[in-house]
Amino acid sequence: MMIVMKPTATEEDILSVIDRIESCGAKAHPSRGEEVTVIGAVGDREHVQRLNLEQHAGVEQVVPILKPYKLSSRQFAAHGERTVIEIDGRLIGGDHFSMIAGPCTVESRDQTLTTAHAVAEAGASMFRGGAYKPRSSPYSFQGLGQEGLRILAEAKAQTGLPIVTELMDARDVEAILEVADVIQVGARNMQNYPLLAEIGRTGKPVLIKRGLSSTLEELLMAAEYVLKEGNPNVMLCERGIRTFETAYRFTLDIMAIPMLKELSHLPVIVDPSHAPGRRDMVLPLSLAAAAAGADGIIVEVHPNPEEAICDGPQQIYSDAFGAYLEQVERAAAVAGKVLSAAA
Ligand code: PEP
Ligand code: MN
Repeated sequence: MMIVMKPTATEEDILSVIDRIESCGAKAHPSRGEEVTVIGAVGDREHVQRLNLEQHAGVEQVVPILKPYKLSSRQFAAHGERTVIEIDGRLIGGDHFSMIAGPCTVESRDQTLTTAHAVAEAGASMFRGGAYKPRSSPYSFQGLGQEGLRILAEAKAQTGLPIVTELMDARDVEAILEVADVIQVGARNMQNYPLLAEIGRTGKPVLIKRGLSSTLEELLMAAEYVLKEGNPNVMLCERGIRTFETAYRFTLDIMAIPMLKELSHLPVIVDPSHAPGRRDMVLPLSLAAAAAGADGIIVEVHPNPEEAICDGPQQIYSDAFGAYLEQVERAAAVAGKVLSAAA
């Protein structure tokens, strides 16, 4: 429910409405605008309804949030504001465009540091790389684990780029927290609800990738699990979904960008690497995503993709990254966004 207060409502009225909401076990989220205060009430709908808040002093009206997701809904952002997340001086969301770049997987110190320096010099906003990898086969390389995290920490120390890395198992959360500036939740874990709640309790920024066969509503419900624990720093990521088309691995759902922005106030990031699974399609998909208003891109980059252990054919060459970024920046400018860099 959204409780819209009258412009004449006093501070006492507002505090009293908050008290009433919390008395029934719901949580109150006040948002103070220039003219009016709006209070989101999230909890058992019937309990809140029974409070008869319409009758309360200073209340203008009570409007239900019709979507099953509440905190992630656009309606919840009472004054139309969008979530802008700050990570080490870089802003994500709003008028800012983030370029998150790096290898699929941390394979070695040399491969990781070479890539980190290349993308940092070209102007990337953050560095990505997996230490724990979700592989379709249990016989494939599963990532360097703790050793991979140590290499990522070194990449950050040398370049200053914030680190985006995947958490697959809640038992690794402490280790990941020491290194990650953004926790990535992989497509295969989008509906791992205990993992999402655990990340919610850490307060660490999180990038949630859309499941291979998940609807936008399911993605927003995943975000809700994190938000509900009090962590507002959530980014949504479109990375391609399963369709009947077999010409490419996944279909990148460009329409998800404007749709998610209509449904939610959270930043929307696009992964142009995993849908095609081919390097030559990464640029056109990146341009499309940036021009369609994405708040950023997470792209795979490798110094020598022929020798990559994982996702080689889709990783762009680190020495071509600068030219790639320049083109994507121009497409982002079409949508009114400026590349996010350290302040
Ligand atoms: C990745 O980013 O390397 C990855 C495994 O992505 P996804 O979870 O989208 O498949
Ligand atoms: Mn990958």
